[in-house]
This record gives sequence, structure tokens and C-alpha cells, in this order.
Amino acid sequence: MIRLSRPFIGKEEIEAVVNVLKTDQLSLGPKTEEFEKSFAKLIGTKYGIAVNSGTSGLHLAVKSLGIKDGDEVITSPFSFIASANCALFERAIPVFVDVEETTFNMDPKKIEEKITPKTKAIVVVHIFGKSCDMDYIIKIAKKHNLKIIEDACESPLARYKGKNVGSFGDVSVFAFYPNKPMTTGEGGMILTDNKEIAKLCTSYKNQGRGDSLQWLTHERLGYNYRISEITAAIGVEQTKKLPAIIEKRRKLAEIYINGLKDIPGLKLPSLDDVKDHAWFVFPIRVDSRIRDKLIAKLNEKGIQSKAYFYPCIHLQELYKNMFGYKEGDFPIAEKLSKETLIIPFYTQITDKEILTIKESLINSLGELK
Ligand SMILES: *Cc1c(COP(=O)(O)O)cnc(C)c1O
Repeated sequence: MIRLSRPFIGKEEIEAVVNVLKTDQLSLGPKTEEFEKSFAKLIGTKYGIAVNSGTSGLHLAVKSLGIKDGDEVITSPFSFIASANCALFERAIPVFVDVEETTFNMDPKKIEEKITPKTKAIVVVHIFGKSCDMDYIIKIAKKHNLKIIEDACESPLARYKGKNVGSFGDVSVFAFYPNKPMTTGEGGMILTDNKEIAKLCTSYKNQGRGDSLQWLTHERLGYNYRISEITAAIGVEQTKKLPAIIEKRRKLAEIYINGLKDIPGLKLPSLDDVKDHAWFVFPIRVDSRIRDKLIAKLNEKGIQSKAYFYPCIHLQELYKNMFGYKEGDFPIAEKLSKETLIIPFYTQITDKEILTIKESLINSLGELK
């Protein structure tokens, strides 16, 4: 079976974990600090706050901006559910804006019509590793006095006009689950240039402790969203490798696009995107009537693939029940959601594996004619 994704872990990570285990400091220690500093430096922000998942990071991003009960937060319906749930955690309301067919990202030109006096922030999701149009979004945010949260969970080292994604918003969030370009098993990182936001996130993630971090004094309602030193040690090594990982993924995406471009009935990512994209996954599109059959055919041939993202967030049971959303509310997101599948893509994938996947795609599509 050729799997959809595989972590890229080497002897450096294994050694780093063993070294931490030989110490007496398994949490709140120097590795966490090193991970935070090195990741923030690589992306280009002043502060990094390591947390135990991307979802925890998004929650604290929302909370640290003071978003609360009844506030509205604009975001994309074509995403992983955490980018909308983070508003719900604070009883705020996610307000969806349909996406652009070419980029899979929220259509910036449709944001303004959704802004009301209750709108407090835009959660920008750089989907699959592709940056949103940040100039346009920053302009709208300034005009309406809105905060920007970047959900960069899929996009470490994706670039927009030469600058790394995650360095544009008031606060941004990365995730390190094993299918992401870099992983710590479970983990996430909040980045910001704002000292106050950094201070609040540091406190919230650690039981609401104050600056002194005294063990039994709690100044605000906090959580335990900390990571262990073991996780942080993996993060330090993965951060060092990240530039090479992303470069490799760009090369692989190019090989994939060139290899698949002559197959009729497939819509592929654009070659123009290769160099600034972070390539979290490799998404392809087919006619919605054959998508699920194609996934089954590929599976028979030992190739894992997956409908992505299906269903859209607004058509998940939770959102239908809470807000009464129905089919047709965000037609472009729904169309993409019915046509898109991801095929195996990982840093160490071989040319031979890519060739096998190509042949299986051609044969499967032929069988479905
Ligand atoms: C992975 C992901 C998250 C959440 O990350 P976890 O670490 O799994 O909590 C959030 N948003 C997007 C877009 C993601 O892909």
C-alpha cells in the first residue's frame, strides 16, 4: 500500500528525544524555549508560543484577541474544521465566505459583504500550502478595524510576495500533526510580533499563570495546552530540516504535475504555484460523479487516496444543526469538495512510487469510462 502521507523522521530526532529522556526536565524546559525561538526566527516573527496542537493554538489566538460571546469571525467553509471551531470555543460565530475555484482559498472579494458591526476578525486559512491574497485581506482588515488570524497549519514556509506566511497576521498558528510537512507527533505553534498577545497565550496555555509563572497562582482562566520537552526536542530538529523539506516537496510537486498533466479528465495544481507553495498535500480534481469510484479503484491497486475536504465545514452535522446551513449555501466550496481528492505525497516519496501512482490513475480512470 502506498500511503497518503508519512512523517519524515531521522536519527537526529531519535537522538534528541533520547537525550531529553536522560535529563530530569521533561516539561517547561530549554528545548521548548529553543523550539519557540528557532521556529519564530525561521518564519520571521518576534515571539513563538509552543502548544500541544494547532487546534489549541487557534483557540488561544481567538481568546488572546478578546473575541467573545456573539462576536463574528469571518473564515472559509473549505478547510479543516478547527479553523471555524476556534470561534465556537469562545462562543463567537464563524461567518463563512465562499472560496475561489483556482486557489481553494477564501475569495477576498467576497469578504466585505459579510462584515457587520459584530465582526471582530478574519481567520485566513492558507489551504493545502497555498498563500491567500494577503495584500487585499490586510487592506480590508485595516479599513474595517478587524484583526487577522492566519491559520498557517498547512503552510510552513509558504511565501506571499517573498515573505513567509504566518508573518502577516496579528497572530498566526502552525500545526505539527504527523501528516503535516513537519511534525512533532502532536503539536502546534502560535506566532506573533505583539508582546501582549504573546504574554496572554503563554499564560493561557499554562493554567492562566501570571508572568512569574508561580506554580500555584492563577490570574485568568487557563488551560493545559503545553508540550513536553520530548515533543519540543523533535520540533527543534524538524525546524532545522524544514527549509530542505519544503524545497524537496516543491520538486516533488513539479515532478507530479509534469507526470500527470497529459491524463485526460484530471485537473491539477498549477506549475506557477510550485515555488511559493508549501505542498501539505497534492490535490487533484475529477468529475464529481466518478470521484468516489476513483478512490475505490485506486485503493484496489494499493494506492491510498482521500476525498478532501468532504464535506465542507458548513455541511458538517454540527454546523447544520447549529446554524441551519444547507447544500447550495457556498457553491464553489461545495463543488471543490465533491471533485477533489488527495493522492500519496510525502517528503521521501520515490520517483518509482510516483510512476506507480500515475499508472494506477491512468488504469483506474480507463476502467471508469
Ligand atoms: C491540521 C490543521 C489544523 C489543526 O491542527 P491539529 O494540530 O490537528 O489540531 C487546523 N487548521 C488546518 C487548516 C489544518 O490543516
